[in-house]
Amino acid sequence: MKKIGVLTSGGDSPGMNPAIRAVVRKAIFHNLEVYGIYGGYAGLVSGNIKKLELGSVGDIIHRGGTMLYSARLPEFKNKEVQQKAIEQLKNHGIEGLVVIGGDGSYRGAKALTEQGFPCVGVPGTIDNDIPGTEFTIGFDTALNTVIDAIDKIRDTATSHERTFVIEVMGRDAGDIALWAGLAGGAETILIPEENYDMDEIAERLKKGSERGKKHSIIVVAEGVCSGVEFGKQLNEKTHFDTRVSVLGHIQRGGSPTAFDRVLASRLGARAVELLIEGKGGRAVGIEKNHLVDYDIIEALDKKHTLDLDLFKLSKELSI
Ligand code: ADP
Repeated sequence: MKKIGVLTSGGDSPGMNPAIRAVVRKAIFHNLEVYGIYGGYAGLVSGNIKKLELGSVGDIIHRGGTMLYSARLPEFKNKEVQQKAIEQLKNHGIEGLVVIGGDGSYRGAKALTEQGFPCVGVPGTIDNDIPGTEFTIGFDTALNTVIDAIDKIRDTATSHERTFVIEVMGRDAGDIALWAGLAGGAETILIPEENYDMDEIAERLKKGSERGKKHSIIVVAEGVCSGVEFGKQLNEKTHFDTRVSVLGHIQRGGSPTAFDRVLASRLGARAVELLIEGKGGRAVGIEKNHLVDYDIIEALDKKHTLDLDLFKLSKELSI
């Protein structure tokens, strides 16, 4: 393999930049040429492809977002569109592609691989919902953003003796809600993987108030219901002065944490090694702090599993 490409696709996540940097530097270290594809699969199909040098990825390790931009291209599900993408890659002499993104982006990479073009997936999403890796790039940064917000909300909640419902991202996965709720000391965490009982939540709030608690924090994953909706249900059930805060897209931005930078550097570099070893159609991940890789096609049939022991612990610690 002499020339490889790299793109970022789908929802952006903090840490995509250090991942791009790792791909580019590792490739050049091994005397490969590396091409940046700008604007995800849309840029690939339209041929927005430029050669990257060592200096192209200078000064990005600490920046959120992605210097290659991201996009969504629903038509990429069509075989003809995928063929166009492969033509563009071949026109540039590119023989392998690193795709940094979430599970939708993996499906695009899987489709190209099935058509004979080797791709390696790197898990870049704040949601932590990719099977085959304990952590995705951007999850830790998003968590820290949420915890920062919870700490600030806690201050004002205490001053006014209020109950706060905080809605966080995560699509169908409860990881952000669970980890941030545990780290932020939330009284209640609602995740899509577990049903909730409104009577039990109301009872916990009442008990907390009776023993002199000045505030309560409830973290709701967006995959359960909207924070506003939950706030309404809670208001109907209790007399607590409740406010709702929807954190939204601040969770996607910001300078990547040290953890995400190191993870992105390791996974991005490993993706290049796999292409050099002639192993296309793989996805990289981390398990028990070891790098792993697995078949990208099989990976998508598996389901991401949330750590339910953590959920149990969060309940035990928030009595
Ligand atoms: P994420 O990668 O963050 O999950 P999306 O689900 O929006 O984000 O997917 C990103 C892009 O990947 C889509 O806009 C589309 O171009 C491509 N994609 C998603 N699903 C498929 C699929 N089944 N086949 C081919 N390409 C897909």
